[in-house]
Amino acid sequence: MEKSYAEWQKQLVKCIRCGTCRSVCPVFQAADNENTTARGKVKLLESVTEGKLALTPELQTRMSKCLLCKACVPGCPSGVRTDELFLSARRELAAKNGLPLAKKLAFTGLTYRRLFDLGLKMGATFQGMVFKDAPNGRGKLARFPLPGAGLSQRRIIPPLASSPLRSRLPERNQVASPKGRVAFYTGCMLNYIYPEAGEAIVKILKAHDIEVIIPSRQSCCGTPAFTSGDYQVGRYLAEENVRVLAAGNYDAIITGCASCGAALQHEYGTIIEDDKVKKMWEELSGKVKDITQFLVGLGLKDNLREVKATLTYHDPCHMVRGMGITKEPRQILKAIPGLKYVEMKDAAKCCGAGGTFSMVYYDISRTINDWKLDNAEKTGADILATGCSACRMHITDGLGQKGSSMKVLHTAEVIAKAYGLD
Ligand code: SF4
Ligand code: SF4
Repeated sequence: MEKSYAEWQKQLVKCIRCGTCRSVCPVFQAADNENTTARGKVKLLESVTEGKLALTPELQTRMSKCLLCKACVPGCPSGVRTDELFLSARRELAAKNGLPLAKKLAFTGLTYRRLFDLGLKMGATFQGMVFKDAPNGRGKLARFPLPGAGLSQRRIIPPLASSPLRSRLPERNQVASPKGRVAFYTGCMLNYIYPEAGEAIVKILKAHDIEVIIPSRQSCCGTPAFTSGDYQVGRYLAEENVRVLAAGNYDAIITGCASCGAALQHEYGTIIEDDKVKKMWEELSGKVKDITQFLVGLGLKDNLREVKATLTYHDPCHMVRGMGITKEPRQILKAIPGLKYVEMKDAAKCCGAGGTFSMVYYDISRTINDWKLDNAEKTGADILATGCSACRMHITDGLGQKGSSMKVLHTAEVIAKAYGLD
């Protein structure tokens, strides 16, 4: 704890209370409470290090009222790393007060890879007992409130795929004359919820004569656990994934979900403790590429098919401020013939999902999401493309509740259409 406090102080002293972070904080804009701003949280943590405030459950609740969207980081004139500060605070608070039982059990379940896989496959079979089809065909609605899972009866969620991605495709996806060999880190949501987007990524890579290995021993990236403060589980998963991905000596590690990509590329650096694994990660992290980034490096194929649609793009927080990717998806999408690309206002503003944030603070996250939907709808687009499954799920929910006809697709699914691979 003292070590963390000493680290916090290095950041806390930099804050000049200017309030710039207020103007960009979506939670503050929705909830209008100083405690939700980065400045407010910095003040609270300062009180902790000065011994005026204890690591109480109340403080834990306050620190949880943050999307970890990182919007307050780039604009801070003093360079306060609020993202690292808040994660570290959540870790100390979880260590002191624990986590709600449902969360703790769910996170522990992630460390039993085979059991977790079996559980979700069984869940896909029996989901009809708990969920019914949403009236607009956008997904499922809970038959009864499930507060433990953060589900009200109005929230539309996607169904679990009857066959996950890693069951649909072989571990080794060969090509006749390989020009490269990559690992595809699918993460959980592309595997269990959006396998079609994962299939599109594999097809695109194969069209470029890249052999794609989908390591069967990969685990959840750990983001839900460590962002909630459960570093024990987060560290276990991070170290497992690094061992599995480093063993293959791949040319690149391809991700299709911004949260997984940002975790593999950056967050693991502050989580992994084992020196040997840390060294492996240091060599591996530079190889982690989002599919759009990797594709721009390769160059798009010639003779793209027309995709007749109007499209707008949402920048996931973990893509734009986590992986530093903004140009690549736009460059690709704008190159597709027939596709009318229209930029939405505040494309890089958080959609309100924030991982487990939307499960706890659904009303706030809906308000934030509605701003995103309004901006998206003003473009007149019939497709919204994005590169994060959590954003996709949350935006689809909002569009469903609004009765909008706009479709949400993974950027790779749009590219696959242009490649004639759909
Ligand atoms: S923008 Fe940075 S320096 Fe200004 S109040 Fe927020 S955290 Fe402090
Ligand atoms: S990370 Fe996002 S939600 Fe959290 S304080 Fe910063 S701007 Fe607000």
